Amino acid sequence: MNYETVIFDLFGTLVNDLAGPEYEVILGQMASVLRVSYRDFRQLWSDTYYERNTGGFNSIEDNVAYICKEFGVQAEQDDTKRTAQIRHDFKRSVMLKPRTDVLEVLSNLKSQDLKIGLVSNCTPAAPVIWPDTPLASLFDVTVFSSSVGILKPDPRIYLLATERLGVQPEDCLYVGNGGSQELAGAAKVGMTSVLIRVPGKYSVVREEWNGPTIASLTELLALVE
Ligand SMILES: [Mg+2]
Repeated sequence: MNYETVIFDLFGTLVNDLAGPEYEVILGQMASVLRVSYRDFRQLWSDTYYERNTGGFNSIEDNVAYICKEFGVQAEQDDTKRTAQIRHDFKRSVMLKPRTDVLEVLSNLKSQDLKIGLVSNCTPAAPVIWPDTPLASLFDVTVFSSSVGILKPDPRIYLLATERLGVQPEDCLYVGNGGSQELAGAAKVGMTSVLIRVPGKYSVVREEWNGPTIASLTELLALVE
């Protein structure tokens, strides 16, 4: 066997990406609860990406409260809560639905005694929802950016995963859909990066990648043999 560990990205890799037309509808609903324009809300939502994904806010509710303050909007606590809940429910629905072949492939990897890790750029909602997903029991280690305060492609976030797993980066395959320059970041610490590009899925701008590419997670099984 070439590798002893596979480390996965979450969104756009194991479950669908949040980004896309549906997400914009959700952001629009959030804006309307706060009685602010979608455009303005969208702008501040983007502007707070870094803080949201590195633990700068303890919760999405805190993020929403911050945005209200920036707007000078006196939002009732109920409205802040309801706004955060809209996004939480959407995110939860996405996280609870792994793509079709994901559970089968992860079980197969486990049956081959491979270790399985997760490195995700995400908000504080993801680690809260994670234990309820069917993915959780299949993972040996998880590293959520909002919990550790570091975003991919910072080398330290990948090395946190390998330290926790007790493996060397060189023995790891890293699989992701190429958000946040994650493939180059993993390769830089010595992992072998694999791009997953599922046909027909809408996606945001991805990194340029000329390395190994798979069109479904099932194709990964041939790479670990
Ligand atoms: Mg991704």
